[in-house]
Amino acid sequence: MAEKLKAMRGTHDILPEEAAVWRRIEDRFVTLCGRYGFSEIRIPIFEATELFERGTGFATDVVQKEMYTFPDKKGRSLSLRPEATPSVIRAYLEHNLARRAKVAKFFYMGPMFRYDRPGAGRYRQFHQLGIEIVGTASPAADAEAVKLLWDYLSSIGLTGLKIRLNTLGGPDCRVKYSGVVKDFLKDNLDRLCSDCHDRFERNPLRVLDCKNKGCRAVIAETPEIASILCPECVEHFERVERYLEAAKIDFYVDPKLVRGLDYYTRTVFEVIHESAGEDLALGGGGRYDQLVKEVGGPDTPAVGFSLGLERVVLALKEEGSADVAGGGPDVYIAPAGEGAWEAAFELAGRLRECFRVWMEFEPRKLENQLRTASRMGARYTAIVGEDEIRQGVIGLKNMESGEQTTVGSGDVVTWLSRKLGG
Ligand SMILES: [Zn+2]
Ligand SMILES: [Zn+2]
Repeated sequence: MAEKLKAMRGTHDILPEEAAVWRRIEDRFVTLCGRYGFSEIRIPIFEATELFERGTGFATDVVQKEMYTFPDKKGRSLSLRPEATPSVIRAYLEHNLARRAKVAKFFYMGPMFRYDRPGAGRYRQFHQLGIEIVGTASPAADAEAVKLLWDYLSSIGLTGLKIRLNTLGGPDCRVKYSGVVKDFLKDNLDRLCSDCHDRFERNPLRVLDCKNKGCRAVIAETPEIASILCPECVEHFERVERYLEAAKIDFYVDPKLVRGLDYYTRTVFEVIHESAGEDLALGGGGRYDQLVKEVGGPDTPAVGFSLGLERVVLALKEEGSADVAGGGPDVYIAPAGEGAWEAAFELAGRLRECFRVWMEFEPRKLENQLRTASRMGARYTAIVGEDEIRQGVIGLKNMESGEQTTVGSGDVVTWLSRKLGG
């Protein structure tokens, strides 16, 4: 036998049982986004590398260290998308979607790729769902993004959620704050880890995101942005807070929250699941009023979020709410005897217009079929025997009560509809 091949490190298969959980939470997202007035957008898996250099930011860890970048056959540099936002904005500009409505609202879902060290809930091919609201600077849009994120995670059954909220200030305040942070860190460089030395050079604000213990001590002493914010940025942030209070969302302000990407301006947020022992960040987002310009569009404010689905599923499992009820078939069709197979096949076709139906491919004893039906959690077994066929009837066994009824073959769909509410 040839050597067995395995999935690549950092990728994973989502097997049927778990895929049912994924399907449930993806469907829920689609429904909720519809209620909030978002439309789906589907964007390519790979793009010109330059899009992410300009959109995600040339200086970010994502672009510097984590992208899957390769030349195509014509020597153009392509990258697998490490996130969706730059692509959504590129599509928005390329198709001139601003012309249709002043504000455009998109949702997306799909795989993203980052060459990172795999860990719990962290993969190299991972899956995100998210939204973008493009064309408004209103704090109500920031609040709507947070509210949708909150509603979504609550509606799939998660509890123990908290929103971390902060503002990085508009472009001017952000630059000013970055200078303040840089000045402070300059005097404390010897206490920072080697990654942070690198960040200090490229983007000092990213130091605030470091998980290293020694760095945390320095971060705790770093001046907070509140000390330098302009009145407009203060006003914007206060209005976001008031909306979230009105919506009764459980949030707290964390003045050191910066998020991993460079494009955020003003509002940033993260959703935390307080799971067994450790806070797990499920996702987050913020306002990005400069990004549209960076990728070649007009000055256009925007806000969005993304969620890591692997982490959402992990959180659901930890809360014990990752089960999907009713996975079994509505009807298990049991042909009894060789002459019954065509009739059973015909019946399966009819029933599949309304119900979930399982039928075997190989002849088996009736008692074995009944045992399988019971193990699969079928609600009814339809027994199709040669005698029944001659009489034009089907035997229907209720798998819970064990009660068996004979129903005319032509009436079976109506009869089952009444019983199953299909
Ligand atoms: Zn550090
Ligand atoms: Zn400002």
